[in-house]
Amino acid sequence: MLPKRIGIDLGTANVLVYVKGQGIVVDEPAVVALAIRDNTVVAVGKDARDMMGRTPDTISVIRPMKDGVIADYLITEAMLRYFLKRVVGRLNIIKPEVMICIPAGVTSVERRAVADAAEQAGARRPVSLVEEPLAAAIGARIPVGTPSGNMVVDIGGGRTEAAVISMYGIVVCESARVAGDRMDDAITAYVKRRHNLLIGERTAEEVKIAIGSAIPLEEEITMEVRGRDQVSGLPRPVTLTSNEITQALQDTLASILQTVRSVLERTPPELAADVIDRGLVLTGGGSMLRYLDVLLTQETGVPCHLADNPLQCTAVGTGVALEHLDVIQRSQQTEEESLVASA
Ligand code: ADP
Ligand code: MG
Repeated sequence: MLPKRIGIDLGTANVLVYVKGQGIVVDEPAVVALAIRDNTVVAVGKDARDMMGRTPDTISVIRPMKDGVIADYLITEAMLRYFLKRVVGRLNIIKPEVMICIPAGVTSVERRAVADAAEQAGARRPVSLVEEPLAAAIGARIPVGTPSGNMVVDIGGGRTEAAVISMYGIVVCESARVAGDRMDDAITAYVKRRHNLLIGERTAEEVKIAIGSAIPLEEEITMEVRGRDQVSGLPRPVTLTSNEITQALQDTLASILQTVRSVLERTPPELAADVIDRGLVLTGGGSMLRYLDVLLTQETGVPCHLADNPLQCTAVGTGVALEHLDVIQRSQQTEEESLVASA
């Protein structure tokens, strides 16, 4: 049976596809490997990510999304086509109805580019768009349809978006280009500065996931990594501790905290009271950093809970939003800017 309606989470780090009745059918890194000679696609997703930093000059490995928006249009389109084909089969026969989520803090040109890329890749026109905080909240099963303040903070690869939602509408939202990728960069920079060692992007991410923590751990954990010595140019191992990584992440964490704070500061009083009662929900892979929920709770005074499945809620919510397109669009009509805009 051909799936007709699908939700796509086109993230900076991961692309997920949700099909009603089947759940998540694609969950792969947003990475494409290209042969430089003729620009043909060599690999997409996990296979391409495994090549990162390990290819000869003839192949380049690219992440076509950056900071939540399309950085390379043609490669994004090729990546979407590849995943759509995998889900739907032959795209020229029946085109699927697609809903894609986009960050709340992007321009109309950037939104349009996402819809265009999906249509070019084989989705039926018009592709619907839903703002990510709303999709994330729906996926985290927050009752966003009620007239009450519901706060969600999505920390992905490229962006942190914090929003208060009521009656399917975003009331206050802040978006910052600081999230998981910045944490990786901060770790790379720290290891270079402190240990004179150059490490790759993937190693930095592994360190973050294995020993990274938002607050210093009582019992430190360590990890040995290998990189290239800046002075001798030779490979060398170094042992990193969790507390060094906490230190390396200070600036990044401060920016994330600032984004959350500024939403709280701008939330109307009635809704703010609801948020304090219910707490806020964290989604996105970046929010899985050890004790980030504890740090945010401490620093904002609002109880922060990690969603059940932080990496998948936005995709699930996007698929579910497509099922309720009418309701969502109707509730947006009074808004100046339609949240679910049929592009
Ligand atoms: P996007 O929506 O931008 O594609 P995701 O929500 O898929 O992003 O999250 C990806 C980010 O989450 C990456 O930066 C990844 O390193 C990070 N991440 C995944 N698991 C963890 C973890 N356990 N601890 C910290 N960061 C994590
Ligand atoms: Mg995301």
